Amino acid sequence: MGKQVKTDKNVSASVNANDETLNFLRRLVKSGVLELLPSFEKSGITYPAISPFLPDKDLITVKKMLSKLEEEDLLKSKVVDRVLLCPNCGSPEVHSKFACTRCNSENVALTQLIEHKKCGYIGALSDFSKPTGLICPRCGAIFDSNKWDYRVIGNFYQCENCGNRFDKPEVNHLCQNCGKVSTFQDIKYEKVFAYRVADAVVRDIGRELPLIENIRQFLIDKGFVVNLHSELIGASGVKSLFALTAEKNEKRLVVDVSLEGNKNDIVALLAKKVDVNPTRAILLDLSGGVELSTLGKIYGIDVISAKADQKTPAGFEEILTKIE
Ligand SMILES: [Zn+2]
Ligand SMILES: [Zn+2]
Ligand SMILES: [Zn+2]
Repeated sequence: MGKQVKTDKNVSASVNANDETLNFLRRLVKSGVLELLPSFEKSGITYPAISPFLPDKDLITVKKMLSKLEEEDLLKSKVVDRVLLCPNCGSPEVHSKFACTRCNSENVALTQLIEHKKCGYIGALSDFSKPTGLICPRCGAIFDSNKWDYRVIGNFYQCENCGNRFDKPEVNHLCQNCGKVSTFQDIKYEKVFAYRVADAVVRDIGRELPLIENIRQFLIDKGFVVNLHSELIGASGVKSLFALTAEKNEKRLVVDVSLEGNKNDIVALLAKKVDVNPTRAILLDLSGGVELSTLGKIYGIDVISAKADQKTPAGFEEILTKIE
């Protein structure tokens, strides 16, 4: 029998984290959840992909946990947006209103400052507006809409409460969740992050996949000497790392795993294959895609579609019968 795989130790070797964090990351990776995208809910910014794994945690706890994982390099973050958040409850559902710079009334309206060309009177459009049409308050002339009797000098806001006129209104933000009103000075304007599980974590946890353990056991039963996370020295003298290697009677298999079907995974295996020259190079593709399979035919790599928690896939057994 081969040596027992100590899963916790494997991960802890390169990942310095407590048990709860490790379990969380392990469940994410094994479920294929490697990317955490934000979603804007009334209650705050959420990460729907992880809620099944942290059902009892409130948003603030989740936020703290994610930023701690990011600090520890277990997650990589990327700023994907900026958002206004209520300073009281953290909700992104804030509606904005304009307000008077003097009395803070929200009954303000944009209006035009116009000039009667003939007499030179300047006033707000509302000063000219009468039920019968536009009439100059100074000289009483009735404006003819076809004659361009007046010109627009500019726009401004007018308060319908106190009459104040101003260029730029105050902006009030009303939280739709808790009702708090904030100004631009006290509302939070925060970065919104998307997260990715760090490659090192994916690699380490990938080694613990039930699939790899099943294949290891399967190969041992067939009389192979199997090593997990195994380094082989190739023709160049450089060490190449594989998820699994197996040897029997001058036959050598090397196996890698692609969790997401990333092209780089097969290119990396190709480079190692050229150097190490195994009997067969096998890539276990857990992505459900077909791109790697197409490339595999070109590169001479056996790409086998598999699931992280499955028993040894049929395609794998076929390869063994071919080389034996
Ligand atoms: Zn006012
Ligand atoms: Zn006039
Ligand atoms: Zn609020």
